[in-house]
Amino acid sequence: MDTQVIVVGAGPVGLMLAGELRLGGARVVVAERATEPSTESRATTLHARTMELLDQRGLLDRLGEPPNDPRGHFGGLPLDLGGTGSPYPGQWKVPQTRTREVLLDWAAGLGADIRTGHELTGLERRDDRVEAVLRTPEGETLRLSAAYLVGCDGENSAVRRLAGVAFPGTDATRELLRADVAGIEIPDRRFERFPGGLAIAGRRPDGVTRVMVHRFGRPAVRRTEDPAFAEVAAAWREVTGEDIGGGTPLWVNAFGNTRRQAAQYRTGRVLLAGDAAHVQMPVGGQALNLGLQDAVNLGWKLAAEVKGWAPPGLLDSYHEERHAVGRRTLGNIEAQSLVLLGGEEVADARSVIGELLGYDGAARHLAGMITGLDIRHPAADDGHRLLGARLPFAELRTGPGASTRTADTLRSGHGVLLDLDPDAPEHAELRAEAALRADRVRVVAATLTTTGPAGDSAGPDGSGGTGELAGVGAVLVRPDGHIVWCGEEGAGALRTALHRWFGAPSSAGAPSSAAVPSSAGAPSSAGSRAFHRSADHTVNRSTTMGTLVNKTALVTGSSRGIGRAVAERLAADGALVVVHYGRGKEAAQDTVDGIRATGGRAFAVRAPLGVPGDVDALFDGVEEGLKEHTGGIELDIVVNNAGIMGGLTPEETTPELFDKLMAVNAKAPFFIVQRAAKNLRDGGRVINISSGLTRFANPEEIAYAMTKGAVEMISLHWARHLAARGITVNSVAPGITNNGSPVFDNPQAVQAMAQLSAFGRVGEPSDVADVVAFLASEQSRWITGAFIDATGGTLLG
Ligand code: NAP
Repeated sequence: MDTQVIVVGAGPVGLMLAGELRLGGARVVVAERATEPSTESRATTLHARTMELLDQRGLLDRLGEPPNDPRGHFGGLPLDLGGTGSPYPGQWKVPQTRTREVLLDWAAGLGADIRTGHELTGLERRDDRVEAVLRTPEGETLRLSAAYLVGCDGENSAVRRLAGVAFPGTDATRELLRADVAGIEIPDRRFERFPGGLAIAGRRPDGVTRVMVHRFGRPAVRRTEDPAFAEVAAAWREVTGEDIGGGTPLWVNAFGNTRRQAAQYRTGRVLLAGDAAHVQMPVGGQALNLGLQDAVNLGWKLAAEVKGWAPPGLLDSYHEERHAVGRRTLGNIEAQSLVLLGGEEVADARSVIGELLGYDGAARHLAGMITGLDIRHPAADDGHRLLGARLPFAELRTGPGASTRTADTLRSGHGVLLDLDPDAPEHAELRAEAALRADRVRVVAATLTTTGPAGDSAGPDGSGGTGELAGVGAVLVRPDGHIVWCGEEGAGALRTALHRWFGAPSSAGAPSSAAVPSSAGAPSSAGSRAFHRSADHTVNRSTTMGTLVNKTALVTGSSRGIGRAVAERLAADGALVVVHYGRGKEAAQDTVDGIRATGGRAFAVRAPLGVPGDVDALFDGVEEGLKEHTGGIELDIVVNNAGIMGGLTPEETTPELFDKLMAVNAKAPFFIVQRAAKNLRDGGRVINISSGLTRFANPEEIAYAMTKGAVEMISLHWARHLAARGITVNSVAPGITNNGSPVFDNPQAVQAMAQLSAFGRVGEPSDVADVVAFLASEQSRWITGAFIDATGGTLLG
């Protein structure tokens, strides 16, 4: 396979999906026909649920501060979109070009391979893969194979056509003409009804006015191209009497009440999302929101499928859930189009609906439908009110002085077991259950501080809103933010929900309430010691894999690159992590903030290595921070990761550079182990980051490789020395790993580097972090003094 998933179309939906797939660990190529991004503003509204989803992924800051319009409408009748139980009520005005830019940066930053100027011309399905035939910008034919292909290529989807997916529905019977016009001065009009038609005009901050006009009773025209501006101006004059013909049209088009929906969102290895799956009149800005929400529903499920852990039926639940949502949305749009584009004959229907909208319950119901806030996955008609609903907003306290928000706990794209009553004795069992899938579900132990936006007592249909989480005890949340289990249902139901949504455990060990201490707070050193080793130094097998709750870890050089991924992973497994750095204070703080935002515990310590007094300075900071957070100075895990490279030929290598490399890469780790031995609890872990270059010649890194050879000696000899205390010492050797340095932005360089690995790609920091996490866990107890090749097969030759 060339990749795991091909996404066709780099509009907002394709890019959202690509980002979600990357978060789930899937490799993805996005093929986009256009060579340049569209400059048309198109959809301009983001609804509350979409804003919440962007918030979950940490993307809201990137949008800036978009204007908010609390006034919604239903078929042109005023509908208040406030009071929805969301922190983002109303309509947020963001041009589609901006939404796309933000998602492009995000997806590309996460490693999605985005190829513009690549047009899909053919699609071949095999039993084990799907092959896309693409025309490249050079006019050549490129074949790409992948496990799955998703069409996010809009209303005229080539994927849907090539895959032969039925697209039943009805063509437009009525149409609206639309134009973005500069240089006109007309009053704003909000769904203004004239005897002959409907007129809408809104002036944007940039001075451009968007006009939309419909003449009552006029049937839709079958168009092969966009209308001329003169036609729009004539219709506008006919309806309003105003002349806009002197303005400069920037974008002109027509749209109607076409309504079609793909019969299947999934056929085998081909899936559809966004407008490729459903076409609807863009009324009330629902289309783009519907598409983005498709992408968030699909991303984690498809990633789970290609990563191999998806339980049966998970991927099919995408069609089940989103087809139903699409059908309902298309229905409300149809109802709106009837009362919006009808003339005198709908006057009575409009006044009845208008009366109903005066009732709070009716308005909330429609607001929930239009904003997407009332969606429940899987549709749950019985059971707890939160089941299937989205995770409501709440602020959480995760430790002394540490807080986060519910949205932030979902940032990493994992599922979350949110334990809101960590001291309840029976919750230890819940956390242990979730910890069996630590690679898919993160445990966040926290208490509620505030719940929901002020003034709201409940969301639409009773879901979401203030107080919704109060008294619930714990919830299991899917990566897309939907709740699939509530504490009141008990541990047995949690096990079922974990199986249904997150698959089989990654560890064979049976959970035990002894495995995870009941308190998420500071450990007592005696308790912790008993936790992972029994008194006679035989192993306590009830410890669960990936569970580092109540352990402490020092990761040197963890402000960025591999070290950061290690820090994040160990924190996700429950450890309190010391994020060490030399110069990059901001990067270190960013790592700490990221860990805290997802419910983890970390603090930063600065100590430049390779200078006199370096190790003492480091441990002064480590011990001070540990005391503050745990009351003790014990460490369980030390990862010697900080390192620098040489990059000079053997001839050019100077004694000064040699000494510097040795001081940072070899001398400092030696003395860190020597010093840490005093803090390490029996049964602790030391992991030294070496390099594949101790087995693979590269003359430009001769001095660097020598330092890494020395690192491996630290592991070998300290392993023997510390074995009596049950402390293991091992080396992990990464191959070329994308640490975010500029060379990884150069596709040619990346391609050349990728060839070195047997898997044909460069490593990701998480590839190495997962290996380190294993060595840090109880499961690695029988390995010490070892060299672990984490080069992705680079050393196979
Ligand atoms: P990186 O992105 O360059 O990050 C290096 C980290 O080490 C930063 O947090 C940096 O913090 C810290 N650091 C560097 N020099 C320091 C000093 N003198 N004092 C204190 N901190 C210092 O590194 P990386 O690529 O992730 O590599 C991490 C480890 O993996 C290194 O040991 C490296 O040799 C090894 N490795 C990497 C690769 C690879 O392809 N990336 C391959 C094989 C082995 P400041 O920025 O704050 O100084």
